[in-house]
Amino acid sequence: MGLAEIKQRIVDEATRCGRNPQDVCLIAVSKVQPDDRVVAVLEQGHRVFGENKVQEAAGKWPGFKERFAGVELHLIGPLQTNKARQAMELFDVIQTLDRLKLAKTIARLAEETGACPRLYIQVNTGAEPQKAGVLPEEADAFIKECRDLGLSIEGLMCIPPADEEPSLNFALLAKIAKRNGIKGLSMGMSGDFETAIAQGATHVRVGSAIFGERAYEV
Ligand SMILES: *Cc1c(COP(=O)(O)O)cnc(C)c1O
Repeated sequence: MGLAEIKQRIVDEATRCGRNPQDVCLIAVSKVQPDDRVVAVLEQGHRVFGENKVQEAAGKWPGFKERFAGVELHLIGPLQTNKARQAMELFDVIQTLDRLKLAKTIARLAEETGACPRLYIQVNTGAEPQKAGVLPEEADAFIKECRDLGLSIEGLMCIPPADEEPSLNFALLAKIAKRNGIKGLSMGMSGDFETAIAQGATHVRVGSAIFGERAYEV
């Protein structure tokens, strides 16, 4: 596959659904990928990337950002409170806001620094014990708590259970977003981004289908 093919498939699916392809942002998930593969995608003009670890992103993205202007970086993995400051400096978007303590820390740092990344709340749509994210039934209350702290919530994000039909999870996420007046929907990965687009995804997170298989899983 590769970048061009994935971009084409996004355009095709959005068009098929009567959606504007411009309304679907492709996040190229570069975690664990060798630098040369990431540079190749940057050289093709792509600028929106996702990483799931603050430390790993801090090691490679400041350098890439010096070489390539206009990079937009999304954090798509769990964020520890003690790394919030570093994450807020490095990332343009944090997609994994999932608990009050983290929301309070982000609100405090935003006030202190006068800057805040765009924020997505991760929802654990499959209610999996090992997975991060607020439970679906707690999402409305958590969105309100974040807003009460002065945080602007751009979207919701989910990672469906590996063994479940993803479309039910995508539909649930879209429903929670809609009833809370939230526009952004980060859902869909290499195996299911077309399904996600059909259900309203505004951001799809595609890794292996662009870069090739990861050398090891994280
Ligand atoms: C790794 C990862 C992806 C990309 O997965 P692929 O199957 O390689 O497309 C998307 N979202 C999150 C949260 C990830 O950690």
